[in-house]
Amino acid sequence: MTKHSIVILPGDGIGHEVMAEVKKIIHWVSANTDLSFDITEDHLGGTAIDAYGVPLADSTLEKCRAADAVLMGAVGGPQWDKVDYNIRPEAGLLRLRKELELFANLRPAIVFDALVDASTLKAEIVRGLNIMIVRELTGGVYFGSPRGIEDLGNGQRRGVNTQVYTTMEIERVARVAFELARKRHGRVTSCEKANVMESGKLWREDVTALHAREYGDVQLNHMYADNCAMQLLRNPKQFDVIVTDNLFGDILSDEASMLTGSLGMLPSASLGAADENGKRAALYEPVHGSAPDIAGQGKANPLAAILSFAMALTYSFHRGDIGEQIEWAVEDVLAQGIRTGDIMADGCTPVGTAAMGDAVLQTLERQKANAA
Ligand code: NAD
Repeated sequence: MTKHSIVILPGDGIGHEVMAEVKKIIHWVSANTDLSFDITEDHLGGTAIDAYGVPLADSTLEKCRAADAVLMGAVGGPQWDKVDYNIRPEAGLLRLRKELELFANLRPAIVFDALVDASTLKAEIVRGLNIMIVRELTGGVYFGSPRGIEDLGNGQRRGVNTQVYTTMEIERVARVAFELARKRHGRVTSCEKANVMESGKLWREDVTALHAREYGDVQLNHMYADNCAMQLLRNPKQFDVIVTDNLFGDILSDEASMLTGSLGMLPSASLGAADENGKRAALYEPVHGSAPDIAGQGKANPLAAILSFAMALTYSFHRGDIGEQIEWAVEDVLAQGIRTGDIMADGCTPVGTAAMGDAVLQTLERQKANAA
């Protein structure tokens, strides 16, 4: 038995509903594999403001630091619209990412066969799509200084942000991309704007040098970020792993995820540096928010959160085999025509959040019986 510690932060709104389904899957994994989990649950976001007066309590942060992985639902909601900007629910999540130094954001864009018609692109363009975007998450223009808005005194103001990257920041995120490519199809596309930005020129030079030093077995190509935005729509299947900075990654990962058609299907992982024992700080969360419009109604799609736990199995617990089992179960459930409202299609069976979680469990059980 290998025991792993998990902190679960359901957060707000549908976060609670989707994480209840994730817990069912965690229990199934404990009962049916050689993994077991030590689970702690705590508040983040609006519920933390209500419980502790701040969106991320120091005690919660310490539990997250000590854990092998953190699983988060979603934060935010109109109840907390009037709280001070610095302690808004989203500030708790931003602080958690910053304090854990989660510099690599992994956003897979996978088109499941059964959902190929949910994409706004033609089926032949997206069928079988499986790409991974690695976005640098703690540096670049969102954090660089100087920053601010200054009054120029003549009725004019000037807004400033600074795009800044060091070799260390570029190399550590590129390393994550190269390592991922080795376990996938062996191809990395690095995106920047080296033609007009010095930080992009440095990015390209550092990625090229790291590749030559350590990752000659991986195929590397460079692409300007604006071209990448076009290529994602023209021929997304040309990509395996894309690595890019914080700003371009923000945009490109949202663009890529929408190729798949639904917010309720998109998982993510954010990883920190590995320590001497290979352990990394890691946060797994669905891409969607707290969906106040459907919160409390049992309508939310839990699959993004369940697929985020599958990523935790792969990247934190080094059990990609069990992660894949969960992905197959999700694919199978979709093929059975079982759908929450967000992915509903003609002729399919509409279900709520809990029934969708149960369908994944039943499919896991069936897969297990078939394998026996
Ligand atoms: P949202 O993702 O919460 O919702 C957008 C739309 O998608 C809504 O119509 C919602 O009903 C639907 N949707 C989202 N997830 C779904 C799911 N799992 N199943 C079915 N339908 C789903 O985005 P929003 O409405 O812009 O933001 C709502 C709140 O969430 C805000 O407070 C925002 O700040 C917060 N937010 C949090 C995160 C996060 O926690 N990482 C991310 C985005 C937004």
